[in-house]
Amino acid sequence: MKEMTVNLYECKHCDGVGTCKNGENGASCLACYQKNELPFFSRKNQFGLLCGSCGGIGKAEPLTERMHNRIAPMLAVIMVFSLLVIISVAAFTKSPFFSELLAFSSAIIGSVVGYYFSSKGK
Ligand SMILES: [Zn+2]
Ligand SMILES: [Zn+2]
Repeated sequence: MKEMTVNLYECKHCDGVGTCKNGENGASCLACYQKNELPFFSRKNQFGLLCGSCGGIGKAEPLTERMHNRIAPMLAVIMVFSLLVIISVAAFTKSPFFSELLAFSSAIIGSVVGYYFSSKGK
């Protein structure tokens, strides 16, 4: 529970209220009209529309956090995959560095896999 609140920040668009007041005279802004899929003719002086940035929650995930959560697993997969390719290339060409490569790669792969398996438990 506590970790969740630490990872969220107050939505800048609606100041954590959840409804948009960024348009004229405290009405909702154009971007939020669009997010709420209002027909064009009613896109004026609408008050208290759901904030389009946070979906009305008032809290949002920091962008860096989201990037990290998405990119890190991808990087790990790419890294493990390319290491496997390097190992098989080394095996095919009977590289003199094969045993070193194998030891090096298996250590990395092991720690990556271990990291993701242990972090999934949280
Ligand atoms: Zn918001
Ligand atoms: Zn807005």
